[in-house]
Amino acid sequence: MSLRVNLRHLEQEEITLQGELPVAELDLETRDELIAVRDALRYHFRVKRLTENLVLQGWLELDLACRCARCLTPFTQTLRLADWVGDVPLTGEDRVVPEGDFVDLTRFVREDILLEFPQHPLCRPECPGLTADAGKAHSQSNATEAEFSSVWAKLDKLKL
Ligand SMILES: [Zn+2]
Repeated sequence: MSLRVNLRHLEQEEITLQGELPVAELDLETRDELIAVRDALRYHFRVKRLTENLVLQGWLELDLACRCARCLTPFTQTLRLADWVGDVPLTGEDRVVPEGDFVDLTRFVREDILLEFPQHPLCRPECPGLTADAGKAHSQSNATEAEFSSVWAKLDKLKL
């Protein structure tokens, strides 16, 4: 699956894209160690060609594996762009460059998803932060990131 559309087909009619895009293809750089992306992006949207741009309209959905910024509890959050409208310019500096008749919409989807990322993931809005017990568990700061990740993975499994 890729988010490519044929511009020539779009001259005739709207195109609907739906399916799943592997995370690797979405190529998200979250730059946030509290958020990891797993599974695929689920999408369903229509593509309509106007004179100077393409309008994308539909929904996007992505599961995020988060760690609470206050207590480090792992939790899963589904990022939903339910009434998403994307804009893909065909002219100007930021225009999409076609390869033959095809344009790749991935970059525009990626940018819009990153804008919706939680800035400060919390397991629950009223999370009090680390309790004394949880603090003890995490205070062994000699643990490597790998060890920490495996703990996180285990916790994650327990939760499921
Ligand atoms: Zn928390």
